[in-house]
Amino acid sequence: MTVNGLTLDFFRNYTHLEVSFDPGVNVIVGENAQGKTNLVEAVAYLSSASSHRARYDRELIQFGIDRAFLKAELFSRKRDYILEAQLTRGMRRQLWSNGVRLKSAGELAGILTTVLFCPEDLYLIRAGAGDRRRFLDSCICQLRPRYAAALAEYHRLHEQKGRILRDWEEKPSLLGALDDYSLRMAQCGAILIHYRAHFIKKLNQAAPAIHTDCSGGREQLELSYDTVSTVLDPLASPKQILGQLLDHQERHRQAEIDSHSCLTGPHRDELAIQIDGNLAKTFASQGQVRTAALALKLAARDILYQDTGEWPVLLLDDVLSELDHRRQEFVLNRITSGQVLITCCEDEKLAQLKTGRAFHIHAGKLV
Ligand code: ATP
Ligand code: MG
Repeated sequence: MTVNGLTLDFFRNYTHLEVSFDPGVNVIVGENAQGKTNLVEAVAYLSSASSHRARYDRELIQFGIDRAFLKAELFSRKRDYILEAQLTRGMRRQLWSNGVRLKSAGELAGILTTVLFCPEDLYLIRAGAGDRRRFLDSCICQLRPRYAAALAEYHRLHEQKGRILRDWEEKPSLLGALDDYSLRMAQCGAILIHYRAHFIKKLNQAAPAIHTDCSGGREQLELSYDTVSTVLDPLASPKQILGQLLDHQERHRQAEIDSHSCLTGPHRDELAIQIDGNLAKTFASQGQVRTAALALKLAARDILYQDTGEWPVLLLDDVLSELDHRRQEFVLNRITSGQVLITCCEDEKLAQLKTGRAFHIHAGKLV
């Protein structure tokens, strides 16, 4: 798939931008704080209605303005699409695909898939389990509308159940709703576990080979899925998983009430990563951490391709300057097909790339 054009109004530091992209490599060059990351963030936003670095949509709207607008013209699944998003302060964002209003972000799944790679991702292995869950979620949401819907609902229920558990001492009547929230969380949670298990299985088929390639055949990467302990087979159907989740919840009901926190469910899942049999989070060296992170990201790109038959748009934000020469070459050599947007501060780093288009960004404008 390719993004042919992008229009932004009052998005971050872009008051108005219209840009056409090359179907291959696009290099976005500019000094610090000029809007390079904002540009790739806008493309990524249109793929999932979420941003990797903004907690709230309102952060994406230009300071002092009430409304932002994003539009991408793209070619995907053998047809043209126009995706639009309108962000309004104090209101829910609105999305359209070819002029038709979308009811949820899940309906975006499969239209524009992106893999974003930024310097923070190089520490994905060392970061907390939450960052690895976000990595899984962002990949699976782009593939499965049902997952995206279940995840959004799960987050909502988790927040509300958390509030009940936090406040029940002041307002004991709140506990009346606890079991209902637990049941609904388990229903959504079973869907999350099922899809996560299948995605991790695919990751574990793709990532080790990439890791071996990049580490010169010296190291063995292995991924596994740690979820709620009563779930015997996370690859089973959500219906089978549900019973096992309810069992865990039942056993921890009193502990949740006593500790005022939500102790059971896939919001505590972990994608466990081992290198040569040792837990990477604890034991990997800096170089190993980077290589493993690269392998995960590139594997995710391969899986999205296998699933949809189209290369996702690859967004490399400032990542090349963080990599040594060998790993830079490794990443660039794997981009033989598909569209890619690369941001950097100086374009001489990209001398290896012979084709494509360069864009110079200054203060939120194309120059
Ligand atoms: P670097 O090379 O340092 O990564 P960059 O070109 O990627 O820089 P961006 O992260 O895109 O920079 O940010 C560009 C500018 O946008 C920053 O100065 C930032 O303060 C500004 N900015 C961020 N959010 C908003 C907003 N909501 N409204 C206006 N400006 C914003
Ligand atoms: Mg940046």
